[in-house]
Amino acid sequence: MSFSTQLKQELLSIENIKPCCMLSETYGLILFSKSFSKRSMFLNTENSQVAERYYSCINRLAVDGVSFTKSDSGKCKVSVNSEASRLRVLSAFGFSGNERSRRINWANIENDCCLYSFIRGVFLACGNISDPEKSYHVEFCVPYSLKNDLLRVLGEIELKPKEIKRNNNYYLYFKDSEDILTLLASIGANNSVLEFTGVKIFKDMRNNINRKTNFENANLDRTVNAALVQTEAILKLKKQGKFNTLPTELRQLAQLRLDNPDLSLKEIGEMLEPPLSRSGVNHRLQKLINLSQ
Ligand SMILES: [Zn+2]
Repeated sequence: MSFSTQLKQELLSIENIKPCCMLSETYGLILFSKSFSKRSMFLNTENSQVAERYYSCINRLAVDGVSFTKSDSGKCKVSVNSEASRLRVLSAFGFSGNERSRRINWANIENDCCLYSFIRGVFLACGNISDPEKSYHVEFCVPYSLKNDLLRVLGEIELKPKEIKRNNNYYLYFKDSEDILTLLASIGANNSVLEFTGVKIFKDMRNNINRKTNFENANLDRTVNAALVQTEAILKLKKQGKFNTLPTELRQLAQLRLDNPDLSLKEIGEMLEPPLSRSGVNHRLQKLINLSQ
């Protein structure tokens, strides 16, 4: 499964959303689909779970005349067939159907809490993310008339994507790993944040190794392998929800290890308050590894 599919699956499984936020998420999903007007209203996607979510949202609003088709190659299309139904959906979000272009109706995302859910819906409709192992890249394929509105929404969470036109489509995209993490965290994709962070740590570490050519290789391999095992154990503790229940001295050390993947145990020990010897650090890291198993 691609990282993008996995992320969308996680987003679709988020529960306990406030009714106002649920409506904003639905709004983002429907507004940023392929077409949203009196004349036509449909979503194209290869992700059948996203298609199902769109179908159930729109079915609730349009009541009847919604069709769901899936081609042999797996492409899904969900479409609202009658104009009366399309008008019902439009009016649910405050549109008459006579608007000249598709724009965000800000009244639907008035509360601060709703903004994140709205972005989640937009990402489900038109977002894509590369596998972080290969590259750091997130993009939204947006209708031209909504481009500036989405820029404004993303600006609210301090993101300033770049724009590009490709095959008659407009894309907003960013490639900075910190920006991608900000997006993932904002839309509530906690597991994806952890996975992305893990990949990033390993990649940074690999890059560092390539730079430090004058190191003795065998020794370095040992250090790096040990650091990998430690980092993996700490990320696992986070995933298991045990991280925050660790005793303070273990938690501090775990965080230092995550933040400084290429430091030696001696250097990490010196950063602790009070400082700890190399073997003391080693002992505590071993404890963390045992706890994660
Ligand atoms: Zn809300």
